[in-house]
This record gives sequence, C-alpha cells and structure tokens, in this order.
Amino acid sequence: MSEFKANILLVEDEEHLHETLKMNLELEGYSITSAFDGNAALKAVENEYFDLIIMDIMLPEVDGITVTERIRVQNLDVPVLMLSARNTSADRVLGLRKGADDYLTKPFNLEELLLRVEKLVEKNKKLLEKDSGLSTYTFGENRIDFKAQEAIVSEGKKVALSKKETMLLKLLIENKNEVVTRERILQVVWGYNVYPTTRTIDNFILSFRKYFEEDSRSPKYFHSVRGAGYKFTP
Ligand code: CA
Repeated sequence: MSEFKANILLVEDEEHLHETLKMNLELEGYSITSAFDGNAALKAVENEYFDLIIMDIMLPEVDGITVTERIRVQNLDVPVLMLSARNTSADRVLGLRKGADDYLTKPFNLEELLLRVEKLVEKNKKLLEKDSGLSTYTFGENRIDFKAQEAIVSEGKKVALSKKETMLLKLLIENKNEVVTRERILQVVWGYNVYPTTRTIDNFILSFRKYFEEDSRSPKYFHSVRGAGYKFTP
C-alpha cells in the first residue's frame, strides 16, 4: 500500500447512501469530506484540495451538473464521478460535457463504484505528477491562459483578465458555437445568490470584443443573441 491517501469530496443528499458510501470509501483508505447540497460542495471546493469528487446530480439548491460546471470554469481539474438516478443517454452526455470524468447510474454496484474511484484517483495522481498545465486556448491571433488569467492578443499585447472575465471566457469557449443563456452565465459565473443586471454581462462581452476582435463593431467571435444569450464562435 502506498502512503498516498486520496482526499475525496462526497456530494450526496440521500443520507443513507451517503453514510454507506462514506464508510466503504474510508475502509478503502480514502479520506472523506461530506457535502449534502450543492452550495456546501462549492464551499468545500474553495477551501480544500480534493483528488476526486463524487457528485450526485439531483441535489437541493444547486444541482450536481451546475456545481461541476462551476468547478470547471474556476479552472479546477479535479476528477468528477457523477451519480445519477436518471438513465437517459442525454443526461449522461450532458454530465460528461459539463465536465464529469465518469458517470454511474443508480442503483449501482458498490464494487464498481470503488473500482472507478480507484481508477480516477490514479489517473489524477499521474496527471499531477506530470503537471500538464494544458489550460490555454487559441483562436485567431489570441491566446488565453486560464490559469495565469491573462491573454496575448493581436501584436503580442498582453491583457490581464479578472477572475470573472476568465470564468466567463471559459464558459463560452467550452460551449463554443452554442448559445449560453444569461441565466446559465449568472448561475455559473456569479453564483446563485448574487444576480447582477444583464448590463453587467453586456459590459463583459464589450470588453471581450475590445480585447479579441479585429473590429469590435462587427464581432467574429463574441456574439449577443437577442433575447437568448451569448455565443462564442471560433
Ligand atoms: Ca440526490
């Protein structure tokens, strides 16, 4: 046995299942932090490093898919194993697209869960050792470095990005060619409790055009879709 003791965040609101999972994971030698709703999960992630998150989808307050998406736009590469009571391929695809690394449908076999947990933890350990740092995105003459919160734009100019700008860019880029609704942006970038006016998002988009577009009046990359939201097209 290695001395490495993986730290796992367990997000599950069904108490009986939560306790069963916690006990079995602890027996396997993992250290477990518990969260019973989405907001608690987000708080835990802000305060502590995790090697893996086990995330139920149907949660009180903020659902597991939104929590995962918010974790991803904050540049956290922690692996996420999603648990769901639903078993439609659409949900599975949505979960995986929003950043889950693996997916189990309830009811699941405990052995299978433990195997997948082991695999994800191992994979993460290897990634950490390599420190891949693959968190840049290039479009046109622009290159965004999400970790450094900065961008290199035309003529090699450097632009410092705020945390929210970085999060919004990441959200739009991860959903490229699709309209991201205002509601989604507000949920993911600003959080549930603070609702800025939509003017705020407009101002961010205006800044993005200034940074990244050749002609900010006829944007190629950052589009407002009237009554719907915003879209990034590479
Ligand atoms: Ca649940």
